Amino acid sequence: MNFPATLFAGQRFAVVGLGRNGLPAAHALSAMGADVTVWDDTQAAREQAAAQGLRVAEPVMDGLAALVLSPGIPHVLPNAHPMATMAITAGVPILSDADLLFRAVRAAGSRARFAGITGTNGKSTTTALLAHILATAGIPVAAGGNLGTASLALPRLPDDGVYVLEMSSYMLERLATLRFDVAVMLNLSPDHLDRHGGMAGYARAKRAIFDRQTAADTAVLGADDAESRAMFASLAGAPATRISISAAQGDGGVLRDSHGIICHLAEARALPGAHNAQNAAAAAAMATALGVPRGKIADGILSYPGLPHRLEVVGRVRGVTFINDSKATNADSAERALACYPRVVWIAGGMAKSGGIAPLAPWFDRIAAAFLIGRDSALLAATLAEHGVKHSEVGTLDMATEAAAQAAFSGAAPVVLLSPACASWDQFTGFDARGDRFRTLVAALQEAV
Ligand code: ADP
Repeated sequence: MNFPATLFAGQRFAVVGLGRNGLPAAHALSAMGADVTVWDDTQAAREQAAAQGLRVAEPVMDGLAALVLSPGIPHVLPNAHPMATMAITAGVPILSDADLLFRAVRAAGSRARFAGITGTNGKSTTTALLAHILATAGIPVAAGGNLGTASLALPRLPDDGVYVLEMSSYMLERLATLRFDVAVMLNLSPDHLDRHGGMAGYARAKRAIFDRQTAADTAVLGADDAESRAMFASLAGAPATRISISAAQGDGGVLRDSHGIICHLAEARALPGAHNAQNAAAAAAMATALGVPRGKIADGILSYPGLPHRLEVVGRVRGVTFINDSKATNADSAERALACYPRVVWIAGGMAKSGGIAPLAPWFDRIAAAFLIGRDSALLAATLAEHGVKHSEVGTLDMATEAAAQAAFSGAAPVVLLSPACASWDQFTGFDARGDRFRTLVAALQEAV
C-alpha cells in the first residue's frame, strides 16, 4: 500500500546528505506531495540526485517544515554542519526520516504500531529477529531504519501492522513526534563518544527511544551492564511498563521469561552465544508486548535465518568451519564471537577503536593463531605479543584467509573466525564489503578442494 500523493502537500523540506537514508527520504517525501530541495557536499552525490529528478540546491531555511539531515552528519558535535547551524538559527526542526514516517502513517489514518530497537550492539539482529517473529505470527510487518530499508521507504501498513525500526543514537537525537508502542535499549558500552560529547551524552541519546511513551506502551531494557541498569532505574517515574531482560534468560540453552520456558534456544541455529540470548530475550519481550502468542514467538526464534556478517557460517572446507563476523567492528563484538568457539584461528584488524583489543585478553587462550590485517595490525600484534599469543601481520584479508585456512587445515583449530574488532574503512567500503570478500575467498577454497 502506498501513502497518499498529497500527504505532505504545501510543506517544504530540505534533505541534506544524500546517502542510503537521504535519497530514499527525498523521493518518498516528493511522492507524498512535499516540496523537496536536496543537497550534498559532494558533487557526485548532487549529480546523481539531479539525474534522478530531484531538485538540487542549497536549501533556504525560511519556511521549511524540517531539515532531514543524514544520520552521519553531526548537528552539534564534533563539528556542526553549517546547514544544521543555519536550521537551528532559523528555528527549523532537524528530523530523522523515522519521525516523518510516523507522521505519514498517522496522517494516512493508519494505527499501525511502532517497535524501536537501540543499544550499542545487537540492534540489527534484534530488529531482524522481531520482524521475523511477527511475520511468522502472520502480522503485517515492515522493518528498516538504520538496517536495510530507510524508514521513509517502508510501505504503508494497515492498522494491525507493525513497523520495526532499528534506531541509531544519531537517529534518536532527531525525533519530535515518534512514539514507540514498544522500545528496547539492549546494552550500552562506549561508542561514538566524539559525536555525543561523552558517555552521558551517548546514554541520553539512546534513552530518547523511550520519550513520549505512555502508560499503554512498553519499555524494555537490558540488565547486563551498569549503564543500562542505571537507565532502567531512571525510567522509574515514566508511565510506560518497564521490562528488564538479560542474556541469563538463555542459560543452559533454554530461553525463559517470568512465565516459564519460551523455547530451546540451543536449537536456534542463527542465534549462538550469550549475546544472542540477550537479543532473543529482547525480541521475545517485545513480541509479547505486541500480543504475539508464546508458541509463535518460539516458532519465530527457532526458524530465524540470521543476518549476513554476524557469526555467519560461510563455508565448511576439509572439516574447518569458516565464520564471517565482519560486523564486529569493535572489541566488544569480537568478544561475543570469541565466546562462542572454544578454539579458533582468528582474523582481525583494520582501524582499531580506542583501547584496541586489550579488553579481549581473557579470551586469548582460545586463539590458536591470529592473522592480522589493515592499518592497525601492529597495535593488535603488540597486544597479542604481550600475552604470548601466536600471530602474524599479513596485511590483507586475502593473505589472512589463505594463511588462516592453512593453519586450520593443519589442525590448529576447527574454526576460522573473521571477527576483526576494527572498522574496515582503511581497506574496504564497509564491513559488508569486507565480509563479502571473505565469503568469496572461502568459496574459492571450497572449489580448490
Ligand atoms: P548492531 O546492529 O547493533 O551493530 P548486530 O546485531 O548487527 O548489532 O551485531 C553486531 C555484532 O555485535 C555481532 O556480530 C556480535 O558480535 C555483536 N553482538 C550482537 N548482539 C549483541 C549483544 N546483545 N551484546 C553484545 N554484542 C552483540
